[in-house]
Amino acid sequence: MTSRAVLVTGASRGLGRAVAKRFAAGGDRVAVHHRDTAALAAQLVEELPGDGHVVVRADMADPPAVRAMVDAAADGLGGLDVLVNNAGIYGSPPAVPVLEAGYEQWREMWRHTFDVNLFGAANACWAAVQHMRAGGGRIINVSSRGAFRGEPEQPAYGASKAAMNAMAQSLAVALAPLGIAVASVAPGFIETDMTNEHLKAERGAAIRAQSPYNRVAQPDEVAAAVHWLATPEAEWATGAIIDMNGASYLRT
Ligand code: NAD
Repeated sequence: MTSRAVLVTGASRGLGRAVAKRFAAGGDRVAVHHRDTAALAAQLVEELPGDGHVVVRADMADPPAVRAMVDAAADGLGGLDVLVNNAGIYGSPPAVPVLEAGYEQWREMWRHTFDVNLFGAANACWAAVQHMRAGGGRIINVSSRGAFRGEPEQPAYGASKAAMNAMAQSLAVALAPLGIAVASVAPGFIETDMTNEHLKAERGAAIRAQSPYNRVAQPDEVAAAVHWLATPEAEWATGAIIDMNGASYLRT
């Protein structure tokens, strides 16, 4: 396969970092996006195999910055073939349960979560399509098991991921005539900085026990599915949402 130009959002750590490594290991050029972790992003670019990788920066909640960041990635890589919408927040600003939240807190939690998880990804899609419309491409969204299982403690998070799935399905149909396939992965718990505190806490054992494997995912297991969705043979998976949750939640 020839080297492709791949933008991974939120790539300086966690799942995004594993995804960036997968693509680079396969010979692709990667734009490593971050918001405020320039040193980590630069270090990753140094470590990635191959040449031509770049660092790009934007707050995903800032629409003009997202557009400029996608354009910078396409400039730096010499085009854009794959967008991985991985950046996301879970409970930031601190999520407050519905029965305890004040009205202002409640609204702020929903607004900020959607600004990053849904509107940031939607804006990145729009900007990426401007670069893909001539030659086709792939968009892969990192959703969550919470879209289906519910997130009683983080309702805005679950809803943002469900909306992300619906967006990917709509775009899969709208963009097929341009040769742009759009698909999603919906992971259960992954061992990353996002979940470290939850996994270390007393409830960590209960979280691991949600899967019959009695463990959570490693980032690379989920990154493998993201990488596969960007292969030529995965075009027919457009519109799909792949569950990556170790049978911890089975939907029909
Ligand atoms: P993480 O917190 O380690 O990484 C998230 C990345 O998104 C970070 O690099 C962070 O800087 C970036 N980000 C957050 N807000 C941003 C903003 N406003 N602008 C720019 N970048 C921003 O978490 P992770 O576990 O690697 O999560 C990656 C993706 O996987 C997320 O979309 C998350 O919702 C999803 N996910 C994670 C789990 C899990 O258990 N870890 C489970 C299901 C889905």
